[in-house]
Amino acid sequence: MADKGELGPTGRPVRVITPPEFLETHGPARIIAMCNQKGGVGKTTTTINLGAALARYGRKVLAVDFDPQGALSAGLGVPAHEVPTIYDLMLGKIKNPHEVIQGTATPGLDVIPANIDLSAAEVHLVSEVAREQILGSVLRRVVDDYDVILIDCQPSLGLLTVNALTAAHGVLIPLACEYFALRGVALLIETIEKVRDRLNPALELDGIIATMYDPRTLHAREVLERVVETFGEKTFDTVIGRTVKLPDASVAAQSILDYAPSNAAAEAYLTLAREIVQRGIVA
Ligand code: ADP
Ligand code: MG
Repeated sequence: MADKGELGPTGRPVRVITPPEFLETHGPARIIAMCNQKGGVGKTTTTINLGAALARYGRKVLAVDFDPQGALSAGLGVPAHEVPTIYDLMLGKIKNPHEVIQGTATPGLDVIPANIDLSAAEVHLVSEVAREQILGSVLRRVVDDYDVILIDCQPSLGLLTVNALTAAHGVLIPLACEYFALRGVALLIETIEKVRDRLNPALELDGIIATMYDPRTLHAREVLERVVETFGEKTFDTVIGRTVKLPDASVAAQSILDYAPSNAAAEAYLTLAREIVQRGIVA
């Protein structure tokens, strides 16, 4: 980890993080909820591209679409209206997650898809015993097969998100560097603390990922400064810049690593993956 002697966007020295060592064996996974009740902050984009980057480094990755909008499934090229989904697992219609897991174009990256059916789950599950723990019991059946499981949460703090937080070992919070980035974050932290107190004592905040950062605007720099002030070391040094190549890649159902490998965002997600392993969050 060499220090390049210059300061990065978070105001800390830029470090070169070498690629992680290859893993001989896999699992059990760290289960990570990608969470922010605000929409459009980069949860889905980060799940896809961080997942692809970790897979590039030889990690076995399972991405779980936990948003009825199904954007993660679409972004990974899965026709989620034609296949079994997380909803079938949540309701016990299918018991074995392997019947639902799909491969993707990225070797090492699998996905459990979702579609609009999942929006009904919230209603169906309200009367279930231990309704907050259903996703956890589904994921326990595959936790040994992966090094990391990334849950792409929907933009709300409802029962589905509480299920994700109850299933997870850690939370990653993407924050877009734009107006009102921090608004609502206190409520999110409060929700995480409640889940920790009542349902999942081991739940950790794994980190804050600044996204859509445009260093040319004073505003983005100020927002990032506030994020670092608020979260300190929990803020990853790696910041994801704003680029139209990321939405373009999602439309093409490809990761940025395949769609635009020389784009700065591809390097940013690879660097984020290295930082996550270097911090010991993922093996
Ligand atoms: P969320 O899952 O939090 O709602 P998304 O990942 O779907 O957010 O991102 C919202 C929109 O912003 C999508 O159209 C996505 O392609 C786009 N987007 C995500 N990250 C970036 C970025 N770094 N630069 C530019 N656009 C981005
Ligand atoms: Mg999303």
